[in-house]
This record gives sequence, C-alpha cells and structure tokens, in this order.
Amino acid sequence: MSLVLVPGNWLYNAGVIGFLRVMEATGENVEGWFRDDGTVEVEFAADPEHHAFRWFDGLYERFTRENLSPEKAKIWEEGVQRCMEAGTPKERCRTLAIWGTLFNVYARGLFNADSRYFDRTWPDFVRFVSWAMQDRTTYRKEGIPCGFCSRSLLEEEREKGKPFLTSEHIKLLGASPAKMPNSFWNNRSDLAVCSTCTWMILSYPAGILEGRGIRYFLNAPSFKLMWVLNRVMRSAFSRQGERTLRELFGTTLMESALRHQLILHHWSMMNVEIVTIRGDQVDFYTLPADRVAVLTNPRVASLLKSLGNTKYLSWVLDGREERLLDRAQQLIRDSLKNEKSPPQEAQDLLELYTLIQEIKIPTGGLING
Ligand SMILES: [Zn+2]
Repeated sequence: MSLVLVPGNWLYNAGVIGFLRVMEATGENVEGWFRDDGTVEVEFAADPEHHAFRWFDGLYERFTRENLSPEKAKIWEEGVQRCMEAGTPKERCRTLAIWGTLFNVYARGLFNADSRYFDRTWPDFVRFVSWAMQDRTTYRKEGIPCGFCSRSLLEEEREKGKPFLTSEHIKLLGASPAKMPNSFWNNRSDLAVCSTCTWMILSYPAGILEGRGIRYFLNAPSFKLMWVLNRVMRSAFSRQGERTLRELFGTTLMESALRHQLILHHWSMMNVEIVTIRGDQVDFYTLPADRVAVLTNPRVASLLKSLGNTKYLSWVLDGREERLLDRAQQLIRDSLKNEKSPPQEAQDLLELYTLIQEIKIPTGGLING
C-alpha cells in the first residue's frame, strides 16, 4: 500500500513529521518517501499488525532518548530485558513497557479502549492502524469527509472508531480558537477526522522540539523541507544553549543552506515560519524576506560559519551589515599600524558585506536609504 500525505496546517504538519521520525526510528527508509512536490508517500511493505508494533517500538526509541531522564530510561530498559529473557520478542516487550504511559500520552482518543489492559486493547489498536493505512484516494467522495484531508471516512471506521475530533485526541486542541491561530480547530464538536489524520495528529509531540518550557516547530510548504529544517534546528538548539528565537531561526537557515543547498533551492523560503507553543499559547515568527534571502545564500552561510563570530550573524539578522564594513576597516587599520598584512577575517568581512549588497538588489531593491 502507499499513502500520500499533503502538507496542511502547522499542527497536522508537525504530526506528520513526528510520525516520520518515529518511522525512521523503526528503521524505515523515510528519506526515500519525500517527493519534490512537497508531499510524502508512505510506503509500508508489511501488514498493519507489524506496523502497529513498529510504531510503538519507534516511539520507545524516541521517548526513552528524548523525553525520559537517564535513570527512568534505565528502569524501562531493564524491564524490556527481563521481558525478552522470558522469551517475548523485543518489539512486543517495548510496546508492553510503554503501553500504559504512552497510551495516555499519544494514543488517547483512538478508540474506546482501556489503557490498563494491553491484551484486551491491542486488537482495537491494530484495527485502527489498518484503517489509518488505507489508501483513501480510491474511495468515492461521498459520506462524511475528514476535516483535515477531505477524504471520506470508511464505513467501518465511522461505526466502530472515534470519528469526531475532541480534546481527547490532543490536549492542545481543547484550547479556545483564539489561542489556536492558524490551526484547523474550529471548536465544532462534530469535526470528523479519519484514522490516518488522527494518527498523524497524535504523533505531534514527536515532531516538535521541546526546550526550556517552550515547544518549537519549523513550518514550511513541503514535508522534505520541514524534515530538513527541523532536524537542523534540533542540532542547532542542542549546541546553542541560551539564544534568542531569532538567532535560532537564523542559524537554522544558515546551516540548512550549507548542508542542504539543493533542497532549499527548490522552495521559496519566504513561507517558512517558526511556531512556538508555550502552554496553550501559540505564536508564529518569521524573518523579513531580504534576511531570509541573505541567510539562505550558501556563500553567505559559509562565510558566516568560517568567521564563527555570533556577533556577525546578529548584525546580519538585524540588517546592520554596515557594521561588518566598519569592523573590516578597523581590522585593516590595526594591521597597517602594526605593519602587518590585513587578516583573512577582514577580507571575509568585506566579501560578506559585498555579497549581501548584491543579494539585496535583485530581490526587490531592498538596499537601505
Ligand atoms: Zn483525514
């Protein structure tokens, strides 16, 4: 089977990225699923039960590494070892270990099941996964459409599943519409959601980056782009420590330009935004178009990286590149005073300044005064 997912609102997009990260943790070739038109074509070879196990197995990988303290992760791992020594397969042991906790965190609202009893609930979960993996394009466009992907709900899914979106699916959706800008939530109690979209939305916690009480997601019009940008943001975040949101965004764009030039080249970066979630407050942040154009230029990114001074990045982010010129002139003056040749840093700064001027002109005459 294959399942084609199209970018939608940020919440759904974060869910799909979370789902893909979990699938990658199970060993799936996620990178091969991205298409150049921005969609992703999920291609599983195995049956739903196998993938239901793999999903929890992948969640176990992500959850123990990213959400648990090392002590707690060790206790879980020991439990899994004991279970395996008793002859139970690893995937099942991991699912059993996280079932109670993750059922309530991730799998709420999938179906009417009791999270305390694995054996009783498991068949329902497998059935949910088999609905979720249905290729809905072959179904007629009648009946109840899903509020997220507009495709019809399956008859069995409508009768036996939980086809209407509630805050049970995801706590954040329980917030009022005013606090949830740009999401699909319209506060209707009868917004239908298919199992595929439910699965994606429930994977949302695995798609976002959490740090210092804030959750971050880089939203873009392409899943491939979101995959790359969010991965770069994760690594930038883990290195940077205390930095502003603007610097985090700037560094992410710059490093993405260096590592993934071809992918960025396909897309207008103007539609990229950082979504931040503090409690149930959602905000959106983006940089001015000329700053995005400058930072995603591979040569600019390379010069900023080799210069290695965050002050220079900060000046570029602020649009105060004349300071680069001042700094270069100061370095040249100092070297002349000491009868030395100007340092490489001065040359790099001059090249960076010139390059930024050149980039700004063709993108709409954005040169300052
Ligand atoms: Zn749907």
